[in-house]
Formats: sequence, structure tokens, C-alpha cells
Amino acid sequence: MKGIYIHIPFCKKKCNYCHFVSKTDLTLMDEYIDALANEILLYQDEMKDIKTIYIGGGTPSLLSCEMVEKITANLNLSEVKEFTIEVNPESVTMDKLLCYKKLGINRISMGVQTTDERQLKMLGRLHSFDDVKEKYRMIRDAGFDNINLDLIYALPSQKKEDLLKDINKFSILNPEHISTYSLMYEEDTILNRMKESGKILPVSDEVDREYFYIIESELKNNGYHRYEISNFSKKGYESKHNLMYWSADEYIGLGLSAHGYLNGERYANESVMGKYLEKIKEGERPVSDVEKIGFDEEKFEYIMLNLRKTEGFSIEEFKERFDIDFLMEYEMEIEKMVEYGALVVEMGRVYLTDYGFDVSNQVYGEFLR
Ligand code: SF4
Repeated sequence: MKGIYIHIPFCKKKCNYCHFVSKTDLTLMDEYIDALANEILLYQDEMKDIKTIYIGGGTPSLLSCEMVEKITANLNLSEVKEFTIEVNPESVTMDKLLCYKKLGINRISMGVQTTDERQLKMLGRLHSFDDVKEKYRMIRDAGFDNINLDLIYALPSQKKEDLLKDINKFSILNPEHISTYSLMYEEDTILNRMKESGKILPVSDEVDREYFYIIESELKNNGYHRYEISNFSKKGYESKHNLMYWSADEYIGLGLSAHGYLNGERYANESVMGKYLEKIKEGERPVSDVEKIGFDEEKFEYIMLNLRKTEGFSIEEFKERFDIDFLMEYEMEIEKMVEYGALVVEMGRVYLTDYGFDVSNQVYGEFLR
């Protein structure tokens, strides 16, 4: 399965925890969208069997309908099964939603993060939870039956009751998919400076873990199943795009600083806007780095990515892809990890146990050669 990721690097305001490539100067937005539409044309040969598309950011809902149309006009949507766009509550409108629908977008991912007004302010978000509820209803009214909401946990000084409230309010909304993230204190963010100056108090690693277990069990009680390390969905609504990444399949990355994986090579696009626009003007793919993936590395990435999924991977598919018997090739590693209680091999599949997910980095390390 092949997918496309399209990056929209614009936001109205930078969130306090944000380390993504996004700019608050919107003056280049028009020029950027034209460049993006041209970049897509540079990948027409690879565009044929695309099954999933994800427009992420940044804040893609800042784009006008005409801008999204310019992007989709150059995409080949004939075989696309899942087409997601990320939206934020403060910029998504009914007109835009109807436009998405008309253009073939069938999944909406909304950045909610928490339902606690004080924490939303601390994170620097531009919306309230009332805005979320209003826009969520609007998304449903526009006819979308596949919605993801993002939840951030392990917020500073977050109590167990606060987390339970968040999970409960998310579940009442009843989205098909919930992606969870533990709050990270990235360098050069306002949040990190708030931490360093003692203005906010991060929760401990133990509490972080404990909160994840709470999320897992509460969401399970509310009808969601965990299909990846930190992603939950109703049955049948697992994100096809996410699964494409975790199956180590090929994808085209488009836009400023986007990454892609094509023909055995990983590539990264230019991360400086001027250079990105310049290369496209010259009719060149705006790639800044290319890395050929060797056979051992490809095997390792396949194992690592597939073990992120709760269903792991099939030994037969591994054989088909690499012409190698997984059980023989990694006999010692498998034995060690099974004894350690981190790995299960049964019914032709290999997957991590709950404990294995907790120590996943250690398990991946075993398979590194
Ligand atoms: S909306 Fe997303 S990309 Fe934009 S600043 Fe906030 S976290 Fe960063």
C-alpha cells in the first residue's frame, strides 16, 4: 500500500509545546500552495497506486477551499481509500468541510489535546472545549463518519481525575479514532522554558506510564481498541495511513521539510522555505537529503515499525518481502525476548506483549544488526 503525506507549514499562532515546522507569517501561503501543486506534478510516475493521503501540518484548515482544490486537482484519487485532513477548531468552518467532502476527503483529524480550559491556555491553544464541541457537531453535520481526535496526556500537574475527565469527555463525543500523545518538552519551546523557570511542574515518568494505562483501560471500556502503541479506534476505523507507515510501505512526502520513502530510499525535503520554493521554480524535486536504505536496515525498520502495531507482523509476509525465514534468522533474539515476556510468536505472527510495549526500544535494539 502506498500513501502520500502533504505538509502545510502554517499556523495562526505557535502553540507553547510545538516543535513542528510551522510558520505564523501567512504571506507566503498562496505561493506555497502553487509550489505544492507543482511539486505533485513532479511525482506523477509514482502517483498511480496511491491508497491513502494525509494533509497535515501546521494547520491545514487555514487553507481556503480554492487552495485545497489546487492541491487535490493534481492528485490521482482513483484508488484512494482514506483521505485525511487535519483541522483545528478555530479555523474549520462548514464551508470548508463541505468543500473537503466535495474533493473526496473522507476523514477529519481534529487537534483537541485536552478538555481542561486552564490546560488549553497553558498549551497555548486558540480554542476552548466549547469550540471543540461545536466544531465536532459541524463535522458530523457535514457528513463525516470517520473522525480522529488528538489527546495529550501527562500535562503539568495533571491529576488522575483531570485525565479521567478528558477521557470521559472525548468518549462522549464518540469519535471513531483517538490518537494519544504524552506531552514532550522539546528544546526551544515556550513550554520548555516554562518548565525550566519552574512555572510549571511536569509529571514524573512513572505517572506518565500510569496515565497511559488509565487511558488504555478506560478507552477499552468505552469501545476502543489499541491497535498501535498510542493509537485507539473503534473496530474497522484503524487509520489506513498510519498502518501504511507501520507496515514499512512506501510513501511520497510533499511540502516543506516533508519526508518520504520511495524505491528503497528515504528522502527529506528542504526545510528552508526560500530553498523549497526556488527548487520547484526550477522544475526540480525540492529534496535536500537522500539516504539509500541497505538490506539490513530495511529488515530492521520493517521489524521495528511493524512491532508498533498490536497485531505485529506475519512471518509469511516477512518471508515474501525479504526471502528470509524470520524464525531461523532471529532464533536467538526471539528466544531471549519471548523468555523476557516481551514478545509472542503464535499463529504465524510476531507481536509485542503489553510489557513488550513498555520496553519496546529495548526489544527493537535486539533486532538491530
Ligand atoms: S497547531 Fe499544531 S503545528 Fe500549529 S503551532 Fe499548534 S501544535 Fe504546532
